[in-house]
Amino acid sequence: MDVPQTPLPPREALLAERDRTLAELDELQVEGPGQMTYGSQAAAATHVFEQQRDLALRERTQHHLADVDEALARLDAGTWGACTSCHKPIAAERLEALPWAAHCIDCQRTKARR
Ligand SMILES: [Zn+2]
Repeated sequence: MDVPQTPLPPREALLAERDRTLAELDELQVEGPGQMTYGSQAAAATHVFEQQRDLALRERTQHHLADVDEALARLDAGTWGACTSCHKPIAAERLEALPWAAHCIDCQRTKARR
């Protein structure tokens, strides 16, 4: 992990996260079905399992990429740092750790509870 010690300006942090996420998506390219021959049922099952796991991971990564893109859009719109639910400012420590956070801690908790 080469996380810089000094906090980056939000735009740089977001762009770096975007690059990192895109690279991750690249690695998660899912192979098309039917291109593999399996030596055994177990190998086939393992492959299906891995494919499903990769798909889930890929979906999560794509969601994350969308979050980062939305945060960049909010930065351009001048609304970055405000909760998209209650419009109150998001805590600075939270933004430092998660510059793509769209919700303040309170709204995030309410969301998670639902
Ligand atoms: Zn909020």
